[in-house]
Amino acid sequence: MEIIERIKDMQAYSQDLRVEGKVISFVPTMGYLHEGHLSLMKEGRKRADVLVVSVFVNPTQFGPKEDLAKYPRDFDRDRSMMETVGVDVVFAPTVEEMYPDGYQTYVEVDEVTKNLCGMARAGHFRGVATVCAKLFHCVLPHIALFGRKDFQQLRVIERMVKDMNMDVGIIGMPIVREPDGMAMSSRNEYLNPKERKAALCLVKAITACRELFDNGERRVGALLDRAVGVVMNEETARIDYIRLAHTETLNDLVGVVWEKALLALAVYIGSTRLIDNTVLGEEFEKC
Ligand code: AMP
Repeated sequence: MEIIERIKDMQAYSQDLRVEGKVISFVPTMGYLHEGHLSLMKEGRKRADVLVVSVFVNPTQFGPKEDLAKYPRDFDRDRSMMETVGVDVVFAPTVEEMYPDGYQTYVEVDEVTKNLCGMARAGHFRGVATVCAKLFHCVLPHIALFGRKDFQQLRVIERMVKDMNMDVGIIGMPIVREPDGMAMSSRNEYLNPKERKAALCLVKAITACRELFDNGERRVGALLDRAVGVVMNEETARIDYIRLAHTETLNDLVGVVWEKALLALAVYIGSTRLIDNTVLGEEFEKC
């Protein structure tokens, strides 16, 4: 497994592969890997000749009051995990390499960033779209894999790629969960044992809402009430948002769900903000 830190080296490596006719798959990450990340890598491994993974904690997607400084990092551990799934190249640039002095260009995706996390995290998706555009130009992948855990992020990247005519296929992958249903996340690391237990209210809300939906309930208000009720029952939880949204536009649904709906949650457990989601009308991912 090769580790590349410089953009020019990464581009040269990928250009050579392309000349050889090799297919490159790419998984962008912020490191502190878990099985969710590895599921993307395993799929990327299957679909291409060469698998590139980036490990870069991107400062431009963190707000001034967010957890950039304390975001968990352990490159040695990440490296061993990536070796187990056959990663060929790790692209791990420094912040200075990605955003040198004088940097001033950003990518803004408009409509699909407005609701959900876009309301609470100003500038977050501008940072995400910018870094992904940059990473695509460094790695030159044919396909890139993203988790549906960050459902809105997936839609933002799909939109950016389409609007900017980027020649990259975007693949959305199912949420990987712990045996108790909790969605895997690097941020779960912040939770103490009591908070970890309390954090189950997110998946409990999802399960309760899915159950109602499966029993025929289609009223948006009733479905949301069920999810909100479950989270409110957990005293350490504070709701940032719980919404039912259109699965493509991510606009809030009103009235009734016709076919499918994204149930998206962002909930604070103590000071840790957790997100989770499910698409009502689609199968639930197995734990
Ligand atoms: P991150 O390191 O948090 O930026 O995540 C890197 C990629 O892994 C993103 O595409 C995430 O959506 C994806 N990911 C994170 N957690 C999970 C999970 N539990 N299941 C599937 N994909 C995930």
